[in-house]
Amino acid sequence: MEYFVNVILPIPLENYFTYRITAAEAEILKPGMRVAVPFGKSKIYTALVNEIHHVPPVAYEAKEIHQILDEMPLVNDLQRSLWRWIANYYMCTVGEVFRSAVPGALLLESETLVLKNKEVEVDENLLKDDEFLVLEALEHQSMLRVKDIVSITEKKSVLPLLNRLIDKKAIVLKEDLQEQYKPKLVGHVRLSPAYQTEDKLENLLETLKRAPKQSRAVLALFQLQAGTKKQVKLSDLEKESGSSKAVIKALIRKGILQEFFIKTDRVTYEPEGEQAKPKSLSDFQLEALQEIEQAFRTKNVTLLHGVTSSGKTEVYVRMIGECLKSGRQVLYLLPEIALTTQLITRLQAYFGEQIAVYHSRYNLNERVEVWRNVLEKERKAQLVIGARSALFLPFSDLGLIIVDEEHEGSFKQFDPAPRYHARDTAIVLGSMHSCKVLLGSATPSIESYHNTRTGKYGYAMMKRRYGDVLMPEMELVDIKEQRRKKRMKGHFSERLREEIRETLGLGKQLILFQNRRGFAPIVECTTCGHAPQCPNCDVSLTYHMHGKQLRCHYCGHQTPLKEHCAACGSFTLDTRGFGTEQVAQEAQDLFTDAKVGRMDLDTTRGKHGYEKIITAFEQQELDILVGTQMLTKGLDFRNVNLVGIMNADSLLNFPDFRAHERSFQLLTQVAGRAGRTDKRGKVIIQTYNPYHQILQQVSTGDYTGMFEEQLYERQQYKYPPATRLIRITLKHKEYNRLNEAAAWFAQALRNVFSGGILGPEFPAIARIRNQYLKHILVKIPLEQSLTKTKNSIKRIDKSFNAISQYRSVRIIYNADHL
Ligand code: ADP
Ligand code: ZN
Ligand code: ZN
Repeated sequence: MEYFVNVILPIPLENYFTYRITAAEAEILKPGMRVAVPFGKSKIYTALVNEIHHVPPVAYEAKEIHQILDEMPLVNDLQRSLWRWIANYYMCTVGEVFRSAVPGALLLESETLVLKNKEVEVDENLLKDDEFLVLEALEHQSMLRVKDIVSITEKKSVLPLLNRLIDKKAIVLKEDLQEQYKPKLVGHVRLSPAYQTEDKLENLLETLKRAPKQSRAVLALFQLQAGTKKQVKLSDLEKESGSSKAVIKALIRKGILQEFFIKTDRVTYEPEGEQAKPKSLSDFQLEALQEIEQAFRTKNVTLLHGVTSSGKTEVYVRMIGECLKSGRQVLYLLPEIALTTQLITRLQAYFGEQIAVYHSRYNLNERVEVWRNVLEKERKAQLVIGARSALFLPFSDLGLIIVDEEHEGSFKQFDPAPRYHARDTAIVLGSMHSCKVLLGSATPSIESYHNTRTGKYGYAMMKRRYGDVLMPEMELVDIKEQRRKKRMKGHFSERLREEIRETLGLGKQLILFQNRRGFAPIVECTTCGHAPQCPNCDVSLTYHMHGKQLRCHYCGHQTPLKEHCAACGSFTLDTRGFGTEQVAQEAQDLFTDAKVGRMDLDTTRGKHGYEKIITAFEQQELDILVGTQMLTKGLDFRNVNLVGIMNADSLLNFPDFRAHERSFQLLTQVAGRAGRTDKRGKVIIQTYNPYHQILQQVSTGDYTGMFEEQLYERQQYKYPPATRLIRITLKHKEYNRLNEAAAWFAQALRNVFSGGILGPEFPAIARIRNQYLKHILVKIPLEQSLTKTKNSIKRIDKSFNAISQYRSVRIIYNADHL
């Protein structure tokens, strides 16, 4: 009898690929195990076994596999079902899902570049001969392709060998090196063990009598330690004791205190600290918790709608605690993990070493570690906190999924395929595990809220902030009028300046929000009207004052700003619009004593970019923080009393059917950063349209008003949730060919569907990186079969690709979220 295996290759192939295996191999192989296989002329890939069978392929002669790479499945059946669902729903191949789901270090292929890991000293005595050979070769050559290693070792299949070296941390992959992420170390202090007991402490204080500053610091530390049983940050000790750093450093030098460092991002749990007890919940929180539990009796998904700072996290903590007790796994999804040090620290205090963190900033080896821990259901990965890709971990027994800030657009992956939405996929994953999914937000997406209205999801609400802190007071400032009355200074209205002055006077901090980075989005010649454009994209270049450069935010093109106009030569260049850089500068000019910081893509690019700025602001080294929407994501700053929205209009005017919903969410979330503690916060929204419905709704906190109006519009104009959407993007560098191809595609769609086909149309930015883009929108009525519709589109796609002059036109599908 002959044996064959169907595998998933990590490339966009329509079908599984079949290889020949021996009877012995068929005995060992199980679905979900990796095999090294030859593909094409001379490539090796890591593929995943899908099925073992006896049917030879019809169209080609099956090759043999090179080697089996696993002893146990690396991927379980549930995962493969999820991949198939994603591939179907988001219209891509299972191979593309495979590539993006599994950490790169587990997917070696012939072109992968490997390097020696310089961070780790490997004991040569522990190396096998072939391993030694590879490391020796890497002494002479800094980098080797996997296929070079094939010839060095004279072995056909080297992937097991390389996997062993990766496990021993002796080598790293090139892609890994580029993103190697070193977490920030935060200085902590503790009393030396010699002084830990009370009588010894007394003696110590006795000897410190003549150094009152030092003795105060020691006492403060003792108190801090006793109070929280947690590690004490050096900076906290400074604050609490009113001591200077020099005093504390002196104590460290004397050996009275010990300094140690804790990584703030990667979760390292120091077992000596005891686990904190969950806080006792307020009545509101308890009520919400009961509502959720009630809802979960009949529903799989429940939405927790709690205003900013209502204490949603503490409610999650209870739910997580219950689930962990039952021994099942928990997945906690967040939109942007880089910004969540604060949250991780909070959860760590409760769940300690049961937490694993998973996101793309971690290097590949670390991701492999988490993967294996989840696969083996290790205790240290019972609660996984991660960004969207954490969905792909090999969970076998999920009991609860939490999707925090469920409204966030960044749950959608845009490039490359699979272009999936993590919240929606999490709900499917939940149903596969028969587990409950809790969505949380202060500003739920229209879709999720709609689902609670129709009874599909359960619903729980928290209307008040924790501790009865008042919601911030909102004020709309008409900048048109301010301009007319000449009350503006730069982009600051008189009201905003007054509030800033007052806030700074009280020693409080403030946030200024502007949704554009750079200095000015447009540079224009006032003589001839010429504005420098990107040579590769159809957009104006943004002026960045830092470095005096013009930059394209779509392709990264940069060029120095010239002093004269490139078209007419006049020295009359002016800027239009403004970004964070300009706001920060104006703020500094207006409030010369204040320390101004900026948080946007430009200032957070480095490895610890986010953390540095957030920490500096948290520790009140900055008074004013200017930033883009990065500021909105669940940050909990204690001392912020004022939020200024520099210009709300640019958000509202964005050409997208979700623009109004997003503006409401963004503005409400930014506003929510204000006044999270005792004093009532203040929010100033500057706009040319103070009577705009959305701004009125933001300023009165009228979520349901916003929801009903938006839903009505979507029903009128047929957008989700009133219809389903698929956007087909065609992409090519030749303008004419793209036009023809798009017209063909749209016509083919119109031949099949009676209505609901819009376009082809050029998007607002019709060319990016020298590729022209055209969109076709397919609107699918709720009563029409989604599967049939997608199948029809796929058939058209096949015919399209059969036309030789269109074959080079790329086609990209986006479902639901565009
Ligand atoms: P949200 O996620 O809803 O914006 P958080 O969970 O961040 O709100 O809570 C806001 C603040 O209130 C946090 O500083 C948190 O520590 C505090 N808090 C929330 N619930 C409690 C509680 N039950 N006891 C004490 N403090 C609480
Ligand atoms: Zn460009
Ligand atoms: Zn000019």
